Amino acid sequence: MTRRPATPSTTPETSQAACCDPTVDLLARSSEEAALVRRAAFTHLRRGRPAPEATLAEDTGLPVEAVRAALTELVAVGTATVVDRDVVAAGGLSVVPAAHRLRLPGVDLWTWCAFDAIGIPAALGVDALAITQCPVCGTALEVALPQGKPPADSPLVGWLPERPCANVQEDFCPEANLFCGRDHLERWRGEANDPAGRAYSLAGLAAQGQQVWAEMREAAEHHPGQAGRTIL
Ligand SMILES: [Zn+2]
Repeated sequence: MTRRPATPSTTPETSQAACCDPTVDLLARSSEEAALVRRAAFTHLRRGRPAPEATLAEDTGLPVEAVRAALTELVAVGTATVVDRDVVAAGGLSVVPAAHRLRLPGVDLWTWCAFDAIGIPAALGVDALAITQCPVCGTALEVALPQGKPPADSPLVGWLPERPCANVQEDFCPEANLFCGRDHLERWRGEANDPAGRAYSLAGLAAQGQQVWAEMREAAEHHPGQAGRTIL
């Protein structure tokens, strides 16, 4: 597999052909069962419910042992969190408290990265409110995403790290933040010794998210009435 070289840049991108989320690489290397189980878990999590192993077996048609093996695989690369045989987080979306918050129609959730909080509603095309904070000044940042679309004129800027990633939650998420503005992003980059990565406008993050979580939108479309526009 060819990895894109890390090319630090300060230029916000509104769209980009390549996808910089390492989850894509990690999932490309994971088994078909792991991808199935992750997708099935996500459809429960986005409605605010943990996904028990046994339910995932029913959903996917896999034996419980195969679901368990798939979950072991996902947990090892940080793309799922399992507590007492329940998946409580997968694909960035969590039903237990995590660093960032995401309000989807009828349900309050958490996400591992600020990127998840923008990218997931963008991919699903649902109304959402992303709630995070600038890592430099601590200012609370709220982004309303009607039908998954972020505002076009926001000064907020996101950062997506581009470095080797063996575990999404440990290697990628801690740096995938949203900043109150360009000056605080630049201050953080200076203090962090200029880490590899790329700055994105909210629209750029949404475009990346649509690629990263495209499979989740497809999964939702198999259940008409559960996606689409809903009052928060
Ligand atoms: Zn700030």
